Amino acid sequence: MKSLIVEDDFTARKLMQVYLSDLGESFIAVNGKEAVEVVTDAIEKNEPFDLICMDIMMPEMNGIEAVKIIRQIEKENGIEGLNGVKIIMTTAKGQSEDIFGAFNTGCGAYILKPVRKPALMKEIERLGLFQDQS
Ligand SMILES: [Mg+2]
Repeated sequence: MKSLIVEDDFTARKLMQVYLSDLGESFIAVNGKEAVEVVTDAIEKNEPFDLICMDIMMPEMNGIEAVKIIRQIEKENGIEGLNGVKIIMTTAKGQSEDIFGAFNTGCGAYILKPVRKPALMKEIERLGLFQDQS
């Protein structure tokens, strides 16, 4: 499984990377803008991500905006519906309106922060990603 962690907080980012290290290769981006660049590059190289863990509150470009653009890029490249990358939003408490917005723009799941490993693994399993570990 190839995953991308998008998170502006260093500690949260590092922790997620440790959690995901057993499941395959993981990459990082520090804001939505960087995530869009990395995802675009991966699609162009025909090596798309299987999973994106996306923070909502980030400088430069927030997670909701980034998800919107990523879905648009996928669409332009003929990737739609279930073939799209699975996205888990990571969010602080009290951002329920943001979560609603995230589901509207095509994320599959969300986890409240601080992210703990069992919660993350549960969502990854629910999204059907344990089968295609690589
Ligand atoms: Mg943040």
